Formats: sequence, structure tokens, C-alpha cells
Amino acid sequence: MTFEALGLNTSLIKALTDAGYTAPTPVQQQAIPAAIAGKDLLVSSQTGSGKTAAFMLPSLHRLSEIDPAAAGKTPNQEMQAARARGERPRFKAAQPKMLVLTPTRELALQVTSNTDKYSVNLRRLKAVSILGGMPYPKQMQLLAKNPEILVATPGRLIDHMESGKIDFSQLEILVLDEADRMLDMGFIDDIEKIVDATPSTRQTMLFSATLDGVVGNMARRITKDPQVIQILSAANKHENITQRVHFVDDLSHKNRLLDHLLRDDSLDQAVVFTATKRDADTIADRLNIAGFSAAALHGDMHQGARNRTLDSLRRGQVKILIATDVAARGIDVPTITHVFNYDLPKFPEDYVHRIGRTGRAGRNGLAISLVNHAEGMNVKRIERFTKQLIPVNVIEGYEPKKTASASRSSPRPGGWKPGDNRGGAKPSGQRTFSKPGAPRKEGSSTGGGYKGSNPRSTDGARRSYGDR
Ligand code: ADP
Ligand code: MG
Repeated sequence: MTFEALGLNTSLIKALTDAGYTAPTPVQQQAIPAAIAGKDLLVSSQTGSGKTAAFMLPSLHRLSEIDPAAAGKTPNQEMQAARARGERPRFKAAQPKMLVLTPTRELALQVTSNTDKYSVNLRRLKAVSILGGMPYPKQMQLLAKNPEILVATPGRLIDHMESGKIDFSQLEILVLDEADRMLDMGFIDDIEKIVDATPSTRQTMLFSATLDGVVGNMARRITKDPQVIQILSAANKHENITQRVHFVDDLSHKNRLLDHLLRDDSLDQAVVFTATKRDADTIADRLNIAGFSAAALHGDMHQGARNRTLDSLRRGQVKILIATDVAARGIDVPTITHVFNYDLPKFPEDYVHRIGRTGRAGRNGLAISLVNHAEGMNVKRIERFTKQLIPVNVIEGYEPKKTASASRSSPRPGGWKPGDNRGGAKPSGQRTFSKPGAPRKEGSSTGGGYKGSNPRSTDGARRSYGDR
């Protein structure tokens, strides 16, 4: 299957070849022809499966076919003409043809930069990001150019709509990227307001990790006779990402283990996830003192600082990024080999998004969770959600003091193999359980782990929740 066969024009094909894309991914194969035909789409497929190009390529294709002469003068030209006549030009609202809504600023910038890459040979089409945190004059400058494509986070966009800076009456294509996430972040009212301001004749494409529940309801409300595309691939299950759990007794054990794991020879770059912004800062400081090149990324940082940190990560100057969920959303750096959960995420969905920061573009990745004995239930919730068991590993010299009172299987085949324990890791073959009522170890937050639960029996074979 080639991009040509999907019906994209030669300017786009050339840009893709230059970008090193040789063949469309499964989601692109399905979405592109349908979107070129003008269909509404509801798409769910995992992170890293190439969704940006799946909506941007057919949109660029369609927008490039619109005759600029027939579309009339752009507000920008009118402003220039007014200036030439010596009049003070009145700011005319920008009239974008396409709008992409994304949950975070980072993601918006990534979509814009991908768009620039795909549209290099379509000079007439310009994409800009409208984001919270960006200086207002800068945004006015961008809007005055009357770009065809706006990529925006919902909140800031509403501000501009309400002050008459953007007019959606000419909008042809609306994309909601990571719609589930936008709803999680409480953007539902903003999204509805924005959708209401666009023509009902628009084409709508919605991308989401899931199409169930609230997202599904909204999706069906805002689309017309949509084509539903759900891709279940190996990448979907993150089969190229090896997952591990290491149990820790207390914070100092966790920190020592993290330092050790970060020195793994196979580690190129890593993201360490923390529950709080403060922890992200503290750990970044501590790792820098320990000789790592580490940096924090979280929502309290100014946009400029966040962009600089991400640039340093992409350039390889920062090796270890310590991040919170929201800030790390959508980070796409193929050289990230390891993801660490210093704290487990609140929701299993976030676990999936976190580990998807590694194993990008078909590479392999390693996702390691450092888990307190008391958090065993949270690991189970994640396993139930992903329908995959996460093998428990122990490293010599870093064993948890708590020992198992019941055994669990060895990691499944394909996880740890004798001889691949570069970092000295070996499977424990045992979950660490604490006996109900067993005395608590000093320093561990609470006792309990799998208290009273039925340890799964072991057969060494590959199992998942799905096949029982
Ligand atoms: P998603 O939105 O599904 O998480 P992205 O659109 O961010 O995925 O794409 C993930 C990575 O794969 C990006 O680095 C992107 O440039 C790359 N990519 C997308 N499509 C292709 C393709 N057809 N061939 C090679 N690389 C691709
Ligand atoms: Mg995406």
C-alpha cells in the first residue's frame, strides 16, 4: 500500500517522501480515502499510530483544491489595500478553513509542525497555533495573516471568538484530536460552543482513545453519518513496549532503584512520571546533582520554558525528562527508550498514554513502574484495563525487604529472558504480598498490598484477562 494509492496529490507525496514516510500506517490507510471523499470520521487507534497525518493529509489535499480566486479576497489583502489607500485598516476577523482542537499546547505545536512538514510544497496553505500562554500581540499578528488552518486549545480560542477576532463561517473541516482527553480536562462546554459557531456543512473528524461513553455521545452529536474506524493492532496493545513492575519499600529505596535503572546502558532518553509538579522539580534537581542531565516539565512552567525544555529533549541535550501527565501528553520523541512511573497514574488510561511516550515509530521501549507494596491493587487495575499482565522484576542489591507470602508466575514469554538482563534485572517469579495483619515495615507508607486477595495461579504460559 502506498500514499499514491490513497489518492493524495503529488505535492503531498513529495513532502512525505522527503519526510521519510514510505508507507501509510493502518489508520492512515483507512482514514485518508474516506476523508478525501469528505466523510465524517470517528477514529480510535493507539498513540503513535500516525493519527496526525491521517487527518492532516486528506485535509491539506482538499484545501489545496479550493480555488483561491473563487474564494475572494482574504481579509489580509483587504487590510493591505486599505493601508495603501492611506486608511487605517480595520482588523478583520480571520476566517480559517480548517480548525484542529487539541487538549494541550504541546500537542497543538506538534500538530502545527507536522502540518508545516506535510505542506512544504503547498505554500498557499498556512497553519498557526493559537494557545493559552502565548502573548496576545503575537496571536493577533498570526491571525492577521488569515491562516487557512488553525490549531488551537479550546480555552484561548473561545477568547478570540468572543472578541470577534475569528469568524468560523467559512470553516470546512473541524478536527477534534484526543477528544477523550479534552473531555477529561473539562473542555466540553468550550467544545460545544466552538462547534456551534461553525457551519453545519463542515466535515468533522474526531480522534479518541475510546469511542465509548461521554466521548461517543458527543461524537455522534457533532458528526453526520460518520465512518467509524477502530484499529486494533500490535501497536495498539503496545506489544513493542516491555512493561515491568519493581516493588519498593519506601521512598529512599525508590530513589536508589531509579538512579540505578537510569544508568542502564540501553537507555537513550527517558521520561519519569510523577504525581505532582513539586516532585517533578525535586527529582529533576536531585538527578542533576547526581550527574544526569535532567529537566522538569509541568503545567506551572511558562510556555517559553516548556518549549525550551522540549527542544532540549529533542536535541538530546536533556536525557531525562521528569514530567506530570498533562505536560507530557503527546510528546513524540522517537529516541525515548524508557518510561518510568515514579508514581503510578490515577487512571489506567493515563498509564497507557504514559508508556506510549516510548516505543514510538515502531521502535522498542521499556516501561518500568516503581510501586509501593500498598499499591498492588492499582497495578491490578492497570492490568485489567490493558488486558496484559505486567511482570514483576527484582534487581540484585535492590530487592524489596518484604518477601512474598504467595507466589506468582514468572513473567510471560517475551518479557524477561535469561541473558537479556543487562541491568542485572531478573524476574522475581513472585509478587510481593504482605500477610494480612503482618507488621508494617518501617518507612513503607502502608501495609497491605494484595491483602486478602487470591493470588493468580501460575502456569508460565502467556495469559491475559481477555482469554479467561
Ligand atoms: P498519534 O497521533 O497516533 O499518536 P502521531 O501522528 O503523533 O501518532 O505519529 C507518531 C509518529 O509516527 C510521528 O513521529 C510521525 O511523524 C510518525 N509517522 C506517522 N505516519 C508515518 C508513516 N506513514 N511513516 C513513518 N512515520 C510516520
Ligand atoms: Mg496524536
